[in-house]
Amino acid sequence: MALDVIKTTVSHDHCIGCGMCDAVCPYDAIEMIYNPVKEVEPSIDYDLCADKCSACVNFCPFTEEKIEAEADKLLALDNPNAHGVDGGNFYLAWDRDRDKRFRSASGGAVSAIATTMLEQDIVDVVFHAQMVLNDLGKEHYKVSVSHSVGEVEEKRSSFYAPISFSSAIKTLRRTDTRVLIIGVPCLVRAATELLAENKQFRNVRAYTVALACSHVTNGQFVDALADSEGVGYSPFLANLRDKTGAPNANAFNNRFFTQEKDLLIKSRFDTLFTTLWRNYFFSKNICFKCSDFWGYTADVSIKDAWGKWAADPLGKSIVITRNPEVERVLTGAASLEVQTLDYEEVIDCQPSTTRFKHDEVQDRIRKPVWAKENIRNGYLKLYLYAWASKRVYRLFGMRGLNLLLSLASMKGKARRFKRLVFSRA
Ligand SMILES: Cc1cc2nc3c(=O)[nH]c(=O)nc-3n(C[C@H](O)[C@H](O)[C@H](O)COP(=O)(O)OP(=O)(O)OC[C@H]3O[C@@H](n4cnc5c(N)ncnc54)[C@H](O)[C@@H]3O)c2cc1C
Repeated sequence: MALDVIKTTVSHDHCIGCGMCDAVCPYDAIEMIYNPVKEVEPSIDYDLCADKCSACVNFCPFTEEKIEAEADKLLALDNPNAHGVDGGNFYLAWDRDRDKRFRSASGGAVSAIATTMLEQDIVDVVFHAQMVLNDLGKEHYKVSVSHSVGEVEEKRSSFYAPISFSSAIKTLRRTDTRVLIIGVPCLVRAATELLAENKQFRNVRAYTVALACSHVTNGQFVDALADSEGVGYSPFLANLRDKTGAPNANAFNNRFFTQEKDLLIKSRFDTLFTTLWRNYFFSKNICFKCSDFWGYTADVSIKDAWGKWAADPLGKSIVITRNPEVERVLTGAASLEVQTLDYEEVIDCQPSTTRFKHDEVQDRIRKPVWAKENIRNGYLKLYLYAWASKRVYRLFGMRGLNLLLSLASMKGKARRFKRLVFSRA
């Protein structure tokens, strides 16, 4: 039977929506659609899928074989946390320009690398992401193609949504473009493989920056935040990493706005953001099976500097470099303050997430969700939250989501009550 990504990936709810299947299809038989639970996924026109070539499957990052092969790499390591860290050089970086840093997700290191590579004529174009002014239920973020420093400057921050890069990648077919691709680890891994191995892209020179990633949420995440704050009744832009008045880098705001005015700026601890994020509400299902926090194939990986560095409200970035050419860009970037970090400071800088992605992932991949290991490590609960949140919000809106949230907190209260009673007994 000829395979395609609907059979290998979408039907298992393993699609991240990166669009590599669409970018590689020689018959343009694939279209990326925004589905009813606000996830981006391929739709195949089987009349155009002429010889069932399976190219889409070859470059999908999340077929069963690739999920297992990626997780197998971790089994060979003494310390799974070392995945993506070993072999790199480590830096703390932040922009000297306070306004640029204010507009960035963390220290602005990603944008500084991108703008420097354009200025120094190392790349012709940057593929990354941007906000879109849109109504509730429509896409609030999309892939972005920037040819100038000014264009990159407009697109700082982190966008928590599934984003297909297929329209951008298609523009590279049969060209000799030099491109910097910025994205979450799975996107970077898939794009790197596609550009290196598919002959349509043989003359492309690609550099990559991975945004270290715990998980990606679907489009309902932003919708529900806007909806719950009553700002979702006309088109809005959403920057969930706003720093206005933030007391520290951890306490960023959710900002909803239009080009003309602010609709809401509120600490993420006073909106539903943190509860939804930490409990994997609206999480992409495949993120439970992803074993790559750092984006180990990228030339550079960048994350927020939390912990002792978060006292500075403007934020700093932790950077791992694996390519000397891009490392020189980072250390030589005129606007950046750059300090070296020790291996120990980097390897355990977000331990709960690296344990989740690099260690507990083995049980999530190899055992059923109801296995005792997956009950103990919390996967069953998070899986149910992710699954149920998408369905109740789609069917019942905020009323359904509020009910689910109160059921979730009732469970917490019952556990606390039990602990109290038994510890006193
Ligand atoms: C879904 C997601 C989950 C993350 N999870 C974590 C985490 O658990 N821990 C952690 O430390 N860091 C995480 N990060 C990374 C972190 O939020 C910052 O992106 C990183 O620190 C870089 O900050 P910066 O100030 O250097 O970037 P900036 O200078 O602000 O530049 C960010 C660049 O990334 C681009 N961009 C933003 N979102 C996307 C996207 N979804 N796809 C493609 N390009 C995008 C922007 O267009 C911009 O060019 C996550 C990021 C994302 C998108």
